[in-house]
Amino acid sequence: MNKKAIYKFCPLCGGAFVKKRLVSNEPERLVCSACEFIFYLDPKLVACTIAETGKGIVLQRRNKEPKKGQWVLPGGFVDRGETLEEAAIREFYEETGLHSRIKCLLGNYSYPGEANIIIVYQSRITGGTIRPCHESMSIDEFKKEDIPWDRLAFDTTRKALKKYMEVNG
Ligand SMILES: [Zn+2]
Repeated sequence: MNKKAIYKFCPLCGGAFVKKRLVSNEPERLVCSACEFIFYLDPKLVACTIAETGKGIVLQRRNKEPKKGQWVLPGGFVDRGETLEEAAIREFYEETGLHSRIKCLLGNYSYPGEANIIIVYQSRITGGTIRPCHESMSIDEFKKEDIPWDRLAFDTTRKALKKYMEVNG
């Protein structure tokens, strides 16, 4: 499923957008036919966390499509002006109820044609109590040997967990 928003009108003056290739080796841009404003469709950043409680790695079961019912790393979109680390800590808390401190960057994941760029941190849990938010059916803690590999929602979930296993034995 590839849902790409199509913008038709300039957010500044309401003029119609036309597609123009402004630089030969760059993608076509949306350019306003009235005021020449260029609307850059930038990537979106997602910050995720891998952290373990005494019981295991904290994963979140998705409560919405796509991949409803499958497991993901707790995380979400980075707000403009927010650091990646702040976003990872904030999202991890919002999704799980757990406070965390970043230990290291585990990896970054991007895919051709996709808007999202996913940054994954390895963190240490510093407090809080697990409570699922409205976006998840449940939060669970998985021992390394019990990771539900066949029910992970995304490529990134799988790749990042694999990397985590390699780095942490
Ligand atoms: Zn305009």
